[in-house]
Amino acid sequence: MNEINAPVVIVGGGQSGLSAAVAVREAGQAAVILEATDRPVGSWPRYYDSLTLFSPAEYSAMPGMPFPADPEHYPRRDEVVGYLEHFAKSLDVEIRTDSRADSIEPDGRGFIVHTASGAAIPASAVIAASGSFSNPHRPVVPGHDDFAGQLLHSADYRNPTAYAGKRVIVVGAGNSAIQIGHELAQVATVTLATRQPVKFIKQRPRGKDLHHWLKSTGFDDLPIDWLSPALTSTFVLDTGVYRHSLDSGALDRRPMFTAFNADGVVWSDGSREHIDAVIFATGYRPSLNYLRPLGALDTDGMPLHVGGISTTRPGLAYVGLEFQRSFSSNTLRGAYRDARHVVAPLAAYVRDAVTVIGL
Ligand SMILES: Cc1cc2nc3c(=O)[nH]c(=O)nc-3n(C[C@H](O)[C@H](O)[C@H](O)COP(=O)(O)OP(=O)(O)OC[C@H]3O[C@@H](n4cnc5c(N)ncnc54)[C@H](O)[C@@H]3O)c2cc1C
Repeated sequence: MNEINAPVVIVGGGQSGLSAAVAVREAGQAAVILEATDRPVGSWPRYYDSLTLFSPAEYSAMPGMPFPADPEHYPRRDEVVGYLEHFAKSLDVEIRTDSRADSIEPDGRGFIVHTASGAAIPASAVIAASGSFSNPHRPVVPGHDDFAGQLLHSADYRNPTAYAGKRVIVVGAGNSAIQIGHELAQVATVTLATRQPVKFIKQRPRGKDLHHWLKSTGFDDLPIDWLSPALTSTFVLDTGVYRHSLDSGALDRRPMFTAFNADGVVWSDGSREHIDAVIFATGYRPSLNYLRPLGALDTDGMPLHVGGISTTRPGLAYVGLEFQRSFSSNTLRGAYRDARHVVAPLAAYVRDAVTVIGL
């Protein structure tokens, strides 16, 4: 098989990769999904145990398959895993599990995808849908090598069991930070360390879930360039529980500490405190190292693209980047819309190649 009649290779078997596969098939092309783990359900099984979606079932559905629950129900982590597993089985695409893309190199108008297990897979086009969970972001804080306590990222947090009775700091002001902080505060003494005050947004304004308003006003799908940075900054969706947790002092909040020492941290007022564990809930960066040989990334490892279409390499696109095109990019409800957008030019690129070469 040469690179022209090769399939479109999709790296990542999460909701973004599965949505991309639907769009590729609709465009009349063959698709192969490469998934590093043993099942095509994305990173959901590795999120913390108590995770409950902030988007209700009605706004957590993949293309053509409603989420099997009351539309107003907020699904739990394992419900999403089951749903995606079922969705993946319904697709007419080859899914290769335990196949990690290691590097991708150009091959004429197409590509060769090299996997960690040594396979070399020809691709007419590539869609990078590998998420960001395997690339947790942790800010550099002076003294962090000296700290003798437990230092982890929220990517490694599962449940509060190991923290009972401990003194814990959770760093961050987003949904994960406050959910984990609130959960831990039931069994431990917890401070949320943030650079800015926590900004809340009501989960159910006027008695309807926020997603209803995002959709009905068209906000969800507005081009990202139209939104001011204030609208895409970090908000915590809240029914009132998390605000109460902070207001009541059950969950303490302080400005970010300035340094670690062996025993704990130095707070911004110069005071020192013994700390058992620090959990960074400070987000993620796209996990795209396998694209480095293509020159598709900037020096920080971020993809060079417009709306998910690579600006450096024809035939390469992305699905699942945060704010890739709109507020709903990188959500269960938004991935397919972005997938369709990037697949249209990719499919044209593949068809052009066939015409050029006269196959
Ligand atoms: C705590 C939390 C709560 C969230 N809550 C919601 C919510 O309520 N509603 C909502 O819509 N969204 C929510 N999201 C956002 C988003 O829907 C999820 O992050 C989702 O998992 C992103 O899907 P994805 O397919 O883009 O990436 P992932 O789920 O990370 O999937 C990427 C897949 O690619 C695989 N992979 C990675 N590298 C390679 C490689 N080199 N080769 C092959 N495979 C590879 C991984 O194994 C993984 O299976 C939440 C996110 C988090 C972190």
